[in-house]
Amino acid sequence: MSTAKRAPAQNLLIAALSPEDRLRLLGDHSPIDLGFSDTLVESGDRIRHVYFPIDSFISLITPGAGRAQLEIGLVGNEGMLGVPLLLGVNVSPLRALVQGAGHAWRIDTAHFIRVIESHAGIRASLNRYLYVFLSQLMQTATCTRFHLIEARLARWLLMTRDRAHSSQFHITHEFLAYMLGVRRVGVTSAASALQRRKLIRYSRGDLAILDVRGLERTACACYALDKKIYSRILKKAPVPAAGIDPGTRLLAGRIVSAITC
Ligand SMILES: [Zn+2]
Repeated sequence: MSTAKRAPAQNLLIAALSPEDRLRLLGDHSPIDLGFSDTLVESGDRIRHVYFPIDSFISLITPGAGRAQLEIGLVGNEGMLGVPLLLGVNVSPLRALVQGAGHAWRIDTAHFIRVIESHAGIRASLNRYLYVFLSQLMQTATCTRFHLIEARLARWLLMTRDRAHSSQFHITHEFLAYMLGVRRVGVTSAASALQRRKLIRYSRGDLAILDVRGLERTACACYALDKKIYSRILKKAPVPAAGIDPGTRLLAGRIVSAITC
């Protein structure tokens, strides 16, 4: 996705760590470039790396054939890719595609596991993000079942804007169809409705948000709820880390299944 960015300097989860913990987690890793549409991991694959986006962002897509694929999460500089490792599982349940090109910290799985197993403070911080991530998945289950396509499109475009750090971006019909889990014709009609109301301009994949407030009023309540949970949970001091029990792992798997069944 090409954007005129107000590029963030750092991933917020990394920035929230103490300087010592930041060094422990990042080790001698350097930020890498992620290219638009790169696949970072396929569903069912072993997780080889953890990614902390800086000015890139990543789309999380459920496994399925053709139109049965649905984007159920977006990870930008507010989050990380690789949360199953916090649950003690090294297999990805989702496909991760780069939707916004840019930089990200990429950390080897073995190093990441060593660090979270030996530093409770780092694990506790990242567990708070895990909670936010699961809350967002639950919200997406409700959103996909009950909210209208136009309101859902408005929500996803605002989420994309937040992670792209720009009101203009390139977004393909394929990604819009993943966002909504509908056919191309449904995407075109929802985008046209937003365009007629002068909330967006969309032509040949170039999308510009013209009226942020108007788009916020059109979006379903899920957008505001996600942001509220994020700021409530991640801006608090972390509680001591606890191990993850198998019940929590099972719950995470069931939430993903509930969204797509
Ligand atoms: Zn919704």
